[in-house]
Amino acid sequence: MAFDGPDLDRAAEILAGAESLLVLTGAGVSAESGIPTFRGAGGLWRNFRAEELATPEAFARDPGLVWSWYRWRRRICLEASPNAGHLAIAGLEDRFPSFLLATQNVDGLHRRASSRRMLELHGSIHHSRCTGCGTVADLPADPGPEDAPPPRCAPCGGLLRPHIVWFGEGYHEGVLETAFAFARTAGAILVAGTSAMVWPPAAIALDGQAHGAALIDVNPEETEISRAADVWLAAPSGESLPALLARLPR
Ligand SMILES: [Zn+2]
Repeated sequence: MAFDGPDLDRAAEILAGAESLLVLTGAGVSAESGIPTFRGAGGLWRNFRAEELATPEAFARDPGLVWSWYRWRRRICLEASPNAGHLAIAGLEDRFPSFLLATQNVDGLHRRASSRRMLELHGSIHHSRCTGCGTVADLPADPGPEDAPPPRCAPCGGLLRPHIVWFGEGYHEGVLETAFAFARTAGAILVAGTSAMVWPPAAIALDGQAHGAALIDVNPEETEISRAADVWLAAPSGESLPALLARLPR
């Protein structure tokens, strides 16, 4: 049965009346494509937890180990496909002249679903950054063997690292500022698949709401955001977002 009901009517009404839309997405949207969170007991790789590998200290100690883990993760991301929720978000982008997608996800699935006006808040698993000259570049299409040596920067020979915000690191320059600035002028903010435990994205949503945006939360679980939202669509984004997109005038 397709997702339906008064909450969907209300969300469609909000979007139909908004001039600009900010969409914030988190791990729940990727989980529907089979991407694990890599946190907690389910995310173990060679008996390491994510918290032991996704840190600047772990990289300094053993860059080869950290790269092996990222090659393994990257292959999982490349073998996954964007789901109906990703595609609906790309469809929403086409309906709004003023639009921004800010995602916590690093897997690249939004881009593969044709989202273009987007900020990757935590970086991308498909990008490297040179620890010498700072250049950010695409990684080769094929991740290669898990235990290949750590890649080096072609221009300067420096060690490359994943262009990801690790535990204990600040956000990449300008990213949060851009998201907050957009949220403060947005007519509507739609949050999908984020847990309220990850604070900066939740803060962006609540700050935007305080500045006048209508807040829609899409999450099967009740969170701090769903409690604060003007409308809560209590369903997976792969079900509710296509239904919401279908309600909008073309
Ligand atoms: Zn370099």
